Formats: sequence, structure tokens, C-alpha cells
Amino acid sequence: MEKEIIPAPSSPDLEGKLFHAAHLAKHKAYCPYSNFRVGVALLTSSGKIYSGCNVENASYALATCAERTAVCKAVSEGELSFDKIAITSDVETGFTGPCGSCRQTLAEFGLDLDVYLINPKNESKAYKLRELLPIAFTPRDLLKHRAAHDVID
Ligand SMILES: [Zn+2]
Repeated sequence: MEKEIIPAPSSPDLEGKLFHAAHLAKHKAYCPYSNFRVGVALLTSSGKIYSGCNVENASYALATCAERTAVCKAVSEGELSFDKIAITSDVETGFTGPCGSCRQTLAEFGLDLDVYLINPKNESKAYKLRELLPIAFTPRDLLKHRAAHDVID
């Protein structure tokens, strides 16, 4: 699944605006324990951008990732349809992908989401969420017919 590196956007087009919002969000990261800043910008189908950063806690397990911050902000404002997400960190070599929990959170709203991983030079790699979460469990799975018995009944 090796992807080509896409050069930084040269104009303030949609990707440029989205990437800029992700970089700005990274500066808001509250990460005194990991010192691993992450910024995200989530584009809704209605054209709005919701940003998010990671928010850590002295009780480490309560940390919230930047992706889930952005999703919660958007959903709490009534948005349920998303087109693109841009994710950035301070990592200089390679790109930072969303963790498994965030892939699942994003999958709730559709696997066709464009996921851009951005490095500090504003270069990116582009994926579809379905590539990052194969054999995803989605709301449709809850609608599938389930067996009344299994082999140990
Ligand atoms: Zn995460």
C-alpha cells in the first residue's frame, strides 16, 4: 500500500485550506505527556471545516486523539457526512496515520472518506479510509441477519 508523496499544495485551494487548518490545529495540541502533537482538519459534505487536536490527561487512558476531537466537534454541530480529513504531526520522516480507534470512529460515517496524511513540509499521501481499515465493522453489519444457533448450542 505504498503511496506516492504529493507535493505541498501551491495555491490556497480546498486542499491547501484543509492542510493549513490541520497545521493550525496541531499548535493547539494539549500533549504534556507524550509531546506528540497532532492536528486534524475534517471537511464536511456541506463545506465546513472542523479542526481537532489531541487532548491528553494525567490519567493517560483518557487521552483523546485529534481525529476524534474533530469528529465530536462536527457531529455535535449536526454534521454527519464527511468528504476529507487531513492529519498532521511533527514527525519529519514518513507520515502519521490515524490510530485504530480513530479509523473505527471515522468508519462510522463512511469508508469513502479521503484521508490525507501530511508531513511538516506540507507534503502528503492520500488514502481512502477503506484502504486503512479493511474488512471494517460498520453500522451495516448490525443490520445483517444473524444465526439463531451456533455450533455449541
Ligand atoms: Zn486516534
